Amino acid sequence: MGKTFDIGIDALRTGSSHSAPLSSSPAQGGEGLLGGRSFSSDMPTSFPLGALAPEAATPRKSFFIETFGCQMNVHDSEKVAGVLLGRGYRPAENPAQADLLLYNTCSIREKAAQKVFSRLGDHKLSARNDGKVIGVLGCVAQQEGEEIFERAPWVSLVCGSASYRKLPDLVEQLETGGRRVMGLDLDTDETFETEITRRDNPFRAYLTIIEGCDYSCAYCVVPHTRGPERSRASDSVLDEVRRLADSGYTEIQLLGQTVNSYSDPSPRGMNFVELLRAVAAVPGIRRVRFTTSHPNDFHREIVAAIDEVPALCDHIHLPVQSGSTRILKSMRRTYTRDDYLEKISWMRAARRPISITSDIIVGFPGETDSDFEDTVTLLDQVQYDGVFSFKYSPRPNTPAMSMADAVPEEEKGRRLAILQDRQRQIQIERNEKLVGETFEVLVDGRHASRGQWSGRTTSNRILNFTSSRENILGEYVQVRVTRAGPNSLVGEHVEPS
Ligand code: SAM
Ligand code: SF4
Repeated sequence: MGKTFDIGIDALRTGSSHSAPLSSSPAQGGEGLLGGRSFSSDMPTSFPLGALAPEAATPRKSFFIETFGCQMNVHDSEKVAGVLLGRGYRPAENPAQADLLLYNTCSIREKAAQKVFSRLGDHKLSARNDGKVIGVLGCVAQQEGEEIFERAPWVSLVCGSASYRKLPDLVEQLETGGRRVMGLDLDTDETFETEITRRDNPFRAYLTIIEGCDYSCAYCVVPHTRGPERSRASDSVLDEVRRLADSGYTEIQLLGQTVNSYSDPSPRGMNFVELLRAVAAVPGIRRVRFTTSHPNDFHREIVAAIDEVPALCDHIHLPVQSGSTRILKSMRRTYTRDDYLEKISWMRAARRPISITSDIIVGFPGETDSDFEDTVTLLDQVQYDGVFSFKYSPRPNTPAMSMADAVPEEEKGRRLAILQDRQRQIQIERNEKLVGETFEVLVDGRHASRGQWSGRTTSNRILNFTSSRENILGEYVQVRVTRAGPNSLVGEHVEPS
């Protein structure tokens, strides 16, 4: 691959319409958190918001991408946008104005997949009458494949995430009159790296270090939709981090379905912890986050690195899925409740207090009242700072689909409510203990109507606060907590004395 470009953070902050390529180098190539991680929600995110094209590109047709699902999808869309910018497309303000309308989809739960088809229905007429080109990317594309053309014949492009490397070719086929173009190969050892990435978040840069998944959890579509695990070469990752730091980013979030099973394919052969330390050592980088960690690949060295390196954030998202060893086995999660609790004990023994969040599924086939009780007691034992909880959703091509003893929907709903209620209590109690403490916050939002600023602590807690300063967006400031809710904290900006 030749030159690589990143859209500049200053341009994003000021909303200026042009950003020159910032650097060039021969690169090879989603919150139980107290706020809300995008993959936990089925709500779509959309961009572009502002038109940002490299100067080299001559604006031609326009595009709009709507993204459903996890942070990995959000970041894939940033790279797809980069591919289109590189081909001279310009961002449209909204779907109606776009010549090319792309849906980057999620099929992790049935509801998310259904939403996509409802969206496609909305654009049937404009595809037929105005010649709008409509494409489906991501997990639904991979899962449904050619059938999308049957269900929605006005769709012209179907491309799964393992084929994103082929996107420039596929787009060219569309430009030269192709009616139905597809990229659905799963058997790949390639990762998706782009010459241009159109980053949507001016404060936190996502960076995928590992794609696909080699686990085979019985409920999960990811191995079928994202293909086998493949890590990105460490040189390429570190080059990109340096470019991001040069362009003003101070916070990096490393992404992967099992981010901590990273294994450098290059001769340097870095493991996950070595890469973490190297990313944190890049000058200008102040915060490094990573998600999602798999408990099986979670080792003490990760905790030791967080203890030693201040730039590594003191937050770990470690999905447990169930507190019952019997259900974990049936889910094929490869660890027991006790194995998991041992890893939690390493974090609790750290010198820095580490915030811990998780994902939980209720109502997996065969889950008894007693199994569910094990999950509730796990909440009490671990004392999570946040949990994303879901009702089990049967998905096509997964082993759990044909398992006996399905839990009725109503019972799943009842268990979910009990679980969420208990976790809410835990979060209230934990957050109340933080009142009076002062945290460093990276300011990333403003609620004008409430006269508040908003930001995140290193432990990924959301802090809404007042300040006497005019504009502190993008700054690191000290905030004293004055009140606590279950999902966020309230505070006031304190200037260093
Ligand atoms: N790779 C991560 C891991 O192993 O923990 C999780 C990735 S998955 C995209 C995000 C979350 O969606 C999972 O942790 C799980 O809680 C939830 N999930 C996945 N499949 C599901 C299903 N069929 N029904 C309900 N929730 C599901
Ligand atoms: Fe899905 Fe399991 Fe892989 Fe996570 S580890 S992506 S839950 S198969």
